[in-house]
Amino acid sequence: MANVTELFGSMVFGDRKMQERLPRTTYNALKKTIKNGEPLDISVANAVANAMKDWAVEMGCTHYTHWFQPMTGITAEKHDSFICPANDGAVIMEFSGKELIKGEPDASSFPSGGIRATFEARGYTTWDPTSPAFIRDKTLYIPTAFCSYTGEVLDKKTPLLRSMEKLSSVAVKVLHLLGKEDVTRVTTTVGPEQEYFLIDKKMYDKRPDLIYTGRTLFGAPAPKGQELEDHYFGSIKTRVAAFMSDLDEELWKLGVLAKTKHNEVAPSQHELAPIFATSNIATDHNELTMEVMKKVAERHGLVCLLHEKPFAGVNGSGKHNNWSISTNTGENLLDPGKNPESNLQFQLFLAAVVKAVHEYQDLLRLTVASAGNDHRLGANEAPPAIISMYLGDDLGALVQSIIDGTDYCSRGKTDMLTGVDVLADFKKDTSDRNRTSPFAFTGNKFEFRALGSSLNIGCPNYMLNTMVAEELSQFYDELSAADDLNAAIKALVRKVFTEHQNIIFNGDNYSEEWVAEAERRGLCNYRSLPEAMAHFVDKKNIDLFEKNGILVEGEIRARYEIELDCYSKQLHIEALTMIDMAEKNITPAVIDFVGSLTESALAKKKLSDAVSTYAETSLISELSETLESFVKKTDELKSAVDEAAKYKGDSLAEAMYYRKTVFELMGQLREFGDAMERKTSAKYWPYPSYGEILFGV
Ligand code: ADP
Ligand code: MG
Repeated sequence: MANVTELFGSMVFGDRKMQERLPRTTYNALKKTIKNGEPLDISVANAVANAMKDWAVEMGCTHYTHWFQPMTGITAEKHDSFICPANDGAVIMEFSGKELIKGEPDASSFPSGGIRATFEARGYTTWDPTSPAFIRDKTLYIPTAFCSYTGEVLDKKTPLLRSMEKLSSVAVKVLHLLGKEDVTRVTTTVGPEQEYFLIDKKMYDKRPDLIYTGRTLFGAPAPKGQELEDHYFGSIKTRVAAFMSDLDEELWKLGVLAKTKHNEVAPSQHELAPIFATSNIATDHNELTMEVMKKVAERHGLVCLLHEKPFAGVNGSGKHNNWSISTNTGENLLDPGKNPESNLQFQLFLAAVVKAVHEYQDLLRLTVASAGNDHRLGANEAPPAIISMYLGDDLGALVQSIIDGTDYCSRGKTDMLTGVDVLADFKKDTSDRNRTSPFAFTGNKFEFRALGSSLNIGCPNYMLNTMVAEELSQFYDELSAADDLNAAIKALVRKVFTEHQNIIFNGDNYSEEWVAEAERRGLCNYRSLPEAMAHFVDKKNIDLFEKNGILVEGEIRARYEIELDCYSKQLHIEALTMIDMAEKNITPAVIDFVGSLTESALAKKKLSDAVSTYAETSLISELSETLESFVKKTDELKSAVDEAAKYKGDSLAEAMYYRKTVFELMGQLREFGDAMERKTSAKYWPYPSYGEILFGV
């Protein structure tokens, strides 16, 4: 690998290149836009476009693309070349400020949730200067936002950018009130830890379920799973290490701060964590990371699975959204400092997060809901579907003392004595980790742990930012009217902790008792996407987004429609794939195998009545019985899928139906299928087994 410091960001039009290539005044104007969110002048855009193009062409690029995040769940791009005809029949390479700022992809084939008719095809992409342009495959990629001709938001970036600005403006007001006049901007930061599976491409190609749906719909467990706990942090296999090293290199070139890599709990499962960045860049980089992972895997004859539950019986994949808020003066607002008991600023921001998570637990739940993640939440491998917060012993005790009005004394960091001379003693963290909590305080940030591995993190983050901004603006209104500010903050913080302490839970989130306890506390427990998504359009949630200028009701309803529709379609595809696998391959394979058993039994009988045919006949009868149930269940599933047509036009009812009926039948069909796999000769079984896939790299 080349020198990493030279390699890093070599494919990015970042700050250093801007300084080198832009006239001073242009550079300063652009910096103002990036840092302070000031509007950008077209003359500045022209100069930037030209410099970007010159750099890209020097790097061998012929094309540019606006890169955006429509509601499909993946990113979109439309490539245009830089060529422009010159007078003499030749071409020159050109790129204007207008082309940089605005693109016009046809919007009609992107999901809009009925927000606009297909004949109103026009959509616009708009340059996001806060996320740097980069080069991939000889193309200049320009991060952009995406909206319709009439201005409705059609993407995941716009609400995120709006929520960041909203949170910034409110937090700055609060900080000014507290005397921090020098703060002019507040930014939310995110470090997303990304889990994924890596399997052999040869196995993948033989599994239509993985190809069409990203997860295995059939598959009996292998003799070994994750029970020995020998994969987590285990030594990395050569092939995987080669992939990871290549991945790091590609990501570093793109300016992604890939930092940590290790094996995860399930066989063939791994994790990558970057160093945190602003929410916006972290989101773009996470989208990029997922795309690059897939491409690099291909080069190694591997396939990277980002589905939340590719294999039953072993852990699925999630994403941990580490989130914090910091000022342009370099202060992390969620850092308790040495004396959190007297740090009113910290207490105030903590109170805002506690109140937000309690009041908008439904939004946090639904923002991580997906057909894939439904398999994880509440399945004792991921946080439950119930949203609660973990503060740890120290902070938990502080909050309790504030509620009780008693004195609190921080334990501070204690020494960890290793008891071995050659090992250094060190300071212990003030609290242990709680791996079961969906929303855990981890020192100076919160870790939202319920995200699915394939999720675009823009969505949970715009919701989180918005709800915290809302609480902060309520706090501001109350505090700015106070005569004695300190007394008012103390009273406010105490009131908030008292009223919202029900959201705080430091125990085991996987336990049965917690489900009952959470119900007593009145916390939501939405087990599936349709149940959770129904609350997106609750009045309090629409009010939240409208009041804070993030989305209007029509846009929220559109998103609600898109999510439900996508869920139903995914389950529909899964059901059709299962039916196809059952009818075309599994049933015929079992019939063939039973046929060969019958032939063998008959041949033996011919030889002599004395030869035992027990092995054949017992297998024949067991398999024939299961096969009958399997075929009947396949037919049942087919009728159930046909029935779904009844619900067209009512997306919530349709999604509920898919969950209650189709999903249940799929589970039942799978049980019969897996039972037959256990009993059928590997020679006859049409698909690679779990053992071959999970231990095949
Ligand atoms: P663990 O696996 O123990 O949860 P990691 O070290 O793998 O922790 O990941 C922690 C993540 O939190 C990293 O991506 C890190 O950059 C991120 N992080 C650290 N500080 C902040 C912060 N202030 N804001 C957002 N993310 C942060
Ligand atoms: Mg983590």
